Amino acid sequence: MNRFLFDPKAGDGDILLLSKEESRHIAKSLRLREGAEIELFDGRGTVFRAVILEVGRRVKVRLDQCIGRGDIQGKPVRVLQGMLKGKKMDTVVQKCTELGAASFHPFISGRCQVRADKAQDSRRLERWQRITIAACKQCLRNQPLLLHETVPFAELFDLDGLDSHPLRLLFWEEEKVVRLSDLPSFDQFDSVHLLLGPEGGFTAEEVQSAGARGWKAVSLGKRILRAETATLSALSITQYLAGNI
Ligand code: SAH
Repeated sequence: MNRFLFDPKAGDGDILLLSKEESRHIAKSLRLREGAEIELFDGRGTVFRAVILEVGRRVKVRLDQCIGRGDIQGKPVRVLQGMLKGKKMDTVVQKCTELGAASFHPFISGRCQVRADKAQDSRRLERWQRITIAACKQCLRNQPLLLHETVPFAELFDLDGLDSHPLRLLFWEEEKVVRLSDLPSFDQFDSVHLLLGPEGGFTAEEVQSAGARGWKAVSLGKRILRAETATLSALSITQYLAGNI
């Protein structure tokens, strides 16, 4: 069933008006009519079954039944990603949503080619919010990827809960011994944290300082993967090992 975004405040009780954008999609692209059943989600985790009452510039709908609240089940996987250039971060945010990561922490490290910039960081965050919501609509995920603000690498480990967690993995192409698939069962852990570098990788000092704080270096195999490939494979394999798929 088609899923659309709604604003719980845009109406009265269970009768609501959808945004112009969603209304255009319903009326012009999908040509849905009065009486059609749709799904609506609020972009925060709640999904309703609803029916179209009127098709116009703003489509009027009636909420019928709540059919979902949140859907991050199993062990939450947190992805910490070195900032990538151009549209690559957009792709990573979209795919992390599809692959079921719970949250996403962008950071700027020594070899990042993108510099920290407050105004740009907040524009990026807004764009990623839109991307994760669109990906949720497409893959029928209820709860968007929880996106955090971009921080410098040095501040990353001071973030709430990040340092005390027992299963913290740093993906490093120079790790020759420990492979992700060699790790003991994830059963005893209630969540997993993954740290992945930017295009240029981590500096030796960064690997060392993360190691000193308990991050375990792991390899994804002999080949050096592009940053975005590394993140998506690390996440997919972790989801499998964590029993989340
Ligand atoms: N420093 C390298 C490549 C970095 S690849 C160079 O420029 O030649 C970018 C990121 O992908 C790395 O920081 C790492 O987190 C991840 N990565 C790529 N290949 C990997 C592998 N085989 N094992 C573990 N991590 C890998």
